[in-house]
Amino acid sequence: MSELRTVTHWIGGRPDDEPPQRLGDVYDPATGEVQARVAFASEADVDRAVETAAAAQPEWGETSLTRRAEVLFRFRQLLLDHVEELARLISSEHGKVRFDAMGEIRAGLDVLEFACGIPHLLKGEFSENVSTNIDTYSIRQPVGVAAGITPFNFPMMVPMWMVPIALACGNAFVLKPSEKDPSASLLLARLLKEAGLPDGVFNVVHGDKVAVDSLLTHPRVDAVSSVGSTPVARYIYSTASANGKRVQSLGGAKNHMVVMPDCDMDLAADSAVNAGYGSTGQRCMAVSAVVAVGAAGDQLIEKVRERLAVLRVGPGSDPEAQMGPLVTAEARDRVVAAIEAGVRAGATLAVDGRDLKVEGYENGFFVGPTIFDHVTPDLSIYRDEIFGPVLVVVRADRLEDAISLVNANPYGNGTAIFTNDGGAARMFQHEVQVGMVGVNVPIPVPLPFYSFGGWKASLFGSLHMYGPDGVAFFTRGKVVTTRWPEPAARGVDLGFPGASRSS
Ligand code: NAD
Repeated sequence: MSELRTVTHWIGGRPDDEPPQRLGDVYDPATGEVQARVAFASEADVDRAVETAAAAQPEWGETSLTRRAEVLFRFRQLLLDHVEELARLISSEHGKVRFDAMGEIRAGLDVLEFACGIPHLLKGEFSENVSTNIDTYSIRQPVGVAAGITPFNFPMMVPMWMVPIALACGNAFVLKPSEKDPSASLLLARLLKEAGLPDGVFNVVHGDKVAVDSLLTHPRVDAVSSVGSTPVARYIYSTASANGKRVQSLGGAKNHMVVMPDCDMDLAADSAVNAGYGSTGQRCMAVSAVVAVGAAGDQLIEKVRERLAVLRVGPGSDPEAQMGPLVTAEARDRVVAAIEAGVRAGATLAVDGRDLKVEGYENGFFVGPTIFDHVTPDLSIYRDEIFGPVLVVVRADRLEDAISLVNANPYGNGTAIFTNDGGAARMFQHEVQVGMVGVNVPIPVPLPFYSFGGWKASLFGSLHMYGPDGVAFFTRGKVVTTRWPEPAARGVDLGFPGASRSS
């Protein structure tokens, strides 16, 4: 048997050569085989990475805005040159099909392109003559060392939600990507170096809770940006905040798509299938609950069923495949157990994906598209984030009932309404307690000139990810008040500023 590749940390501009004390397995989800091993960082490894970042940050923070932007422009070109290699890496470790990996790369590039405009984004405000001959202006400076903790489901895009903006703002960065698909982060590191980023400004440490805890408590980490499941997001938020860091921590989701009887039902069915089963349901913005209002339910289920009958499931390397496997055997078993719980609880299993077999890939982590009808909100298949190709349909009598259902859900990442009634759409977007809302758009992910973030248990912290909020998160504000005194303005005056105006 040939020796397995080891995925190492990246510290100080090169692959780390310290022998790891612990290693994890990286699978090929389509075959079920271990394809590599990944180093798991100890507290000492994280300390080396953070100290390296802290040493490199001051010079990078002093580097001119135009030079920082130039490095990002070059990074963008290098990413475009390596797009096939990156898509192959993502697909082989995550399992997603090629065009989906390409979509993820495009979304990551969108944030990078936004960050290339950093000279414009860091312009401050200026107020002349706030008092006679006194001017006030604001500037934004780097936070220092930022840490990023990212999930498996977008091994390139989610790091790119953070890294380009953090670097553009003059910070150094330590990324802890998911241990399930760690290799894309190393290609990003190599290309950043090639683009001219000074060694030590961007570092990668791999691993599990040990690595995460070391980052959350390290005294030289100033900011923590994280994305993951809600229990982990809540833990990261509270631990890092208690250690004095600024934190933005995005959590899980249960995204509802409300379907009104007057909508374009073919568009709604296409959208439910695309957003429900794309990336095998492993997207934070996946639609996982459909709320069919009034007469919409029967028509929609029938149209979704027709589409699922011809949906092709296969390995990410199959150019014809539309949906790949789940990321691990554990994820597959969790999804199958969720389906079994739904059946036991009496929901109607309209399409069952449990028996799917992909020829030649019998040991892969596949589950076929599954849909439950007549689901009630007390069932675990409705309450839990299944994070797999399982869609549940809940029936509601009126739009008001659908909105109440969405608002009662503890998550609030994304939601959508499908309707041709402008009044219904306006009521929905106004009343719904969710951070990102689509009208006839199933996955309303904002482009990076807006920010991305959910409400309630989908985000801990006050600032959303990327866009203007990202720039605010990765910088500290400073306000300067200046006076260049004329001789007449001199003299001691112990009165409180403004006293002369109120008399
Ligand atoms: P996860 O919570 O298991 O892991 C996320 C990160 O935290 C990983 O780097 C992991 O190594 C680390 N981690 C895991 N357990 C930890 C622990 N006990 N203590 C400290 N760190 C820990 O999430 P995942 O399975 O990799 O990703 C899927 C989840 O991420 C889903 O819940 C999905 O909704 C969510 N997600 C949310 C968004 C969003 O924008 N809100 C985006 C992508 C993914």
